[in-house]
Amino acid sequence: MTANRILITGGAGFLGSHLCERLLDEGNDVLCVDNFYTSTRRNIVHLLENPNFELMRHDVTWPLYVEVDQIYNMACPASPIHYQRDPVQTTKTSVHGAINMLGLAKRTGARILQASTSEVYGDPEVHPQTEDYWGNVNPIGVRSCYDEGKRCAETLFFDYQRQHDTEIKVARIFNTYGPRMLPNDGRVVSNFIVQALKGQDITIYGDGSQSRSFCYVANLVDGLIRLMNSRDGLTGPVNLGNPNEFTIRELAEKVLTMVGNGSRIVYKPLPQDDPTQRQPDISTARAELGWEPDIPLDEGLEPTIEYFRGIV
Ligand code: NAD
Ligand code: UDP
Repeated sequence: MTANRILITGGAGFLGSHLCERLLDEGNDVLCVDNFYTSTRRNIVHLLENPNFELMRHDVTWPLYVEVDQIYNMACPASPIHYQRDPVQTTKTSVHGAINMLGLAKRTGARILQASTSEVYGDPEVHPQTEDYWGNVNPIGVRSCYDEGKRCAETLFFDYQRQHDTEIKVARIFNTYGPRMLPNDGRVVSNFIVQALKGQDITIYGDGSQSRSFCYVANLVDGLIRLMNSRDGLTGPVNLGNPNEFTIRELAEKVLTMVGNGSRIVYKPLPQDDPTQRQPDISTARAELGWEPDIPLDEGLEPTIEYFRGIV
């Protein structure tokens, strides 16, 4: 396969940095664009010496003029604490960012993949979630800047495809975890591991019966690359996530057992609009991409715990 010139927006983030690494390993030229809103250079510092890697500090809410063959549009704060810190900027990043990157794809003829999210299903009434489910999203709540921003970005992707024949791919990513998550971003896997490592209380929000399905980052990145390189005309949306579902209480108990530092579980109020259950139906990804996660939660938690042991 000939090398591609690949742009990754949000390339210094948790998922973006793993994607940069994989695409460089496969012999591509990678342009990483990031404004470091929720990341630091530490995630990609080991790539800076690679002659095929280029880093550009840039905010995707502004236009970008570069020449590329493929675009992974990953830029957007992803954890509730971060995306709620400046909600107007979150919506701008999703919507203006999508318009700018789609404009770039239109001009260059590049394929463009959108990192969408299971949050487009909101608090789902269909379980597990299939891609044809339209979702149950509160348009005016504290999560709406993210959920509705991502929904509007999907609309823009499909309108660019219909109106301008842009080659689009839309991935709906479910909860993903692994090394390089930020220790203070409030997501449940990083929170529980950091709390357990420090011997602090493990904070379960609500009664812990709400569920999530956790995918290890290496599996997710593989799914994104397969989707980007899938057959012409496969636009998605395609669910990418691990269908093995756990309650938040089960996750807390697993982390406690694996870290074993004497922490106690405590219960805190459930945040507004917190979805009660979430599990991807990945039949489309299985059939179209031949993709299925093969790293179970216990196995993926080990390197994740080791990573946090090294930084907290
Ligand atoms: P992250 O916060 O680690 O990465 C996002 C990156 O985007 C950061 O490096 C941040 O600095 C950058 N960024 C934010 N606003 C920007 C802007 N205006 N211009 C340029 N860069 C900007 O989050 P992540 O977990 O790596 O998520 C990456 C993408 O995947 C996001 O779009 C997110 O919505 C999506 N996603 C992630 C998950 C998950 O579980 N991690 C689930 C669903 C969807
Ligand atoms: N959660 C929790 N304790 C924490 C952080 C999160 O019980 O310290 C819960 C949260 O209320 C939600 C689930 O874990 O029900 C997943 O939260 P996260 O923010 O990781 O992802 P999202 O809600 O966006 O799926």
